[in-house]
Amino acid sequence: MAEQGQHNFRDTIGTLNEEGKRAWVFPKKPDGKWYEYRKYVSYVLLIFLFSAPFLKINGNQFLMFNVLERRFNIFGFPFWPQDFHLFVIMMIIGVVFVILFTVAFGRLFCGWVCPQTIFMEMVFRRIEYWIDGDRGKQVRLKKMPWNKEKLKKRVLKWSIFFIISFLIANVFLAYLIGSDQLIRYITDGPFKHVSTLISLLIFTGVFYFVFAWFREQVCIIACPYGRLQGVLLDNKSIVVAYDHKRGEKEKGRAKFKKNEDRSVTGKGDCIDCFACVHVCPTGIDIRNGTQLECVNCTACIDACDHMMEAVNLPKGLIRYASEENIEKKAKFTFTPRLKGYTAVLGILTAVLIGMLFLRNDIEARILRLPGQLYERKADNIISNVYTFKLVNKTIDDIDNVNFKLLSHKGTIKLVSNNDFTVDGQGLAEGTLFIEINAAALSGDKDRLEIGVFSGDKKIETTTTAFLGPRSYK
Ligand code: SF4
Ligand code: SF4
Repeated sequence: MAEQGQHNFRDTIGTLNEEGKRAWVFPKKPDGKWYEYRKYVSYVLLIFLFSAPFLKINGNQFLMFNVLERRFNIFGFPFWPQDFHLFVIMMIIGVVFVILFTVAFGRLFCGWVCPQTIFMEMVFRRIEYWIDGDRGKQVRLKKMPWNKEKLKKRVLKWSIFFIISFLIANVFLAYLIGSDQLIRYITDGPFKHVSTLISLLIFTGVFYFVFAWFREQVCIIACPYGRLQGVLLDNKSIVVAYDHKRGEKEKGRAKFKKNEDRSVTGKGDCIDCFACVHVCPTGIDIRNGTQLECVNCTACIDACDHMMEAVNLPKGLIRYASEENIEKKAKFTFTPRLKGYTAVLGILTAVLIGMLFLRNDIEARILRLPGQLYERKADNIISNVYTFKLVNKTIDDIDNVNFKLLSHKGTIKLVSNNDFTVDGQGLAEGTLFIEINAAALSGDKDRLEIGVFSGDKKIETTTTAFLGPRSYK
């Protein structure tokens, strides 16, 4: 921990001033190796985020989260309400994966992958630098009275922000309701779907608010993942860290003096230039140690490396490192905690793969009509009435669907057609009667096995209960 840092940093938030009001952060434009890498990663992720709802695999949208209809597509794999357990397992795997990564590599996700950071730092912030200029110019513009220049810049920036927010809202909607639906709504004309249009404008407003005003506050106060850092990180986790041993040494950090040999003077390598602070999008001083606000964006690594280069000192005063690495020069180790998470992740993944293999393309449910007993017909025939529900999880129609009794001799009579079609990604419901001779029953409640066929091909087997008279037990 830094000895000379701001000692009040634990009691205050970098983005609040002494009166408790929002202190706007004007981060300096990052520049350096890590920023370049992050730019490339962001291009790939932005292409992915914008195209994923429009890509299809076997006719299924690549990613879709239709919460209202409880239909989800993950990597082109459709999940129906009946597959909810699979979806939950996938989500748990996602969470364990993120935890595992956080324990090992800190907030790597926040800095490199999180859509909030990608959009904020790589889209909106870059537009801001382009229109308003770098940190100094932004501060001056903010203080400037409203004149022609300020008005022009603000209107231009806010208009572009609004258009991008509107685009993001459209893509977000494509994830929620499906891209086909969205395109249909657009081609129909938005005023024919007023409720969707209102949702779209609300989403646009939320994105605009987040990226134009709320910004780093999402990571600092709203994001639950950020709040978890305190429990997930330990002194072996690799995070963006200031090497306080090297930066402070015996005499602490000190301003740069030409021709000074710090190995002789005992001063730390930190030249107290504040480059790392000025570049930080969450307004913190990394020299105070790992803080909840740090999203591991690497901007301070680049800034400090530039300064180290300029004063001819080794780079890496701020770098990816664990507390142990800085304190004891310890290398990264696969700790028991990491091993435990990896084992849990492995088991869950194996369970998921097994369940995906066992999953059928068609889901059949045949349930006795509630409140109905059996009916005795002529020739000792016992009849039960059922409702059935068939879900076709594929995109192809399933024709000539019919039911056959597999476990008992008897007949299945549908109230409507005995042979029907279930549309691709569709649902078929109806009522049917099952009739079995009482002599063929083994008790007053037999378990029936019923085959669902497409023509002569069995596509699913399901079971249901059949009630009969007690005397035939
Ligand atoms: S401290 Fe460094 S890594 Fe953390 S948010 Fe600020 S600039 Fe990014
Ligand atoms: S950029 Fe590096 S040298 Fe400058 S204040 Fe930050 S840690 Fe110290």
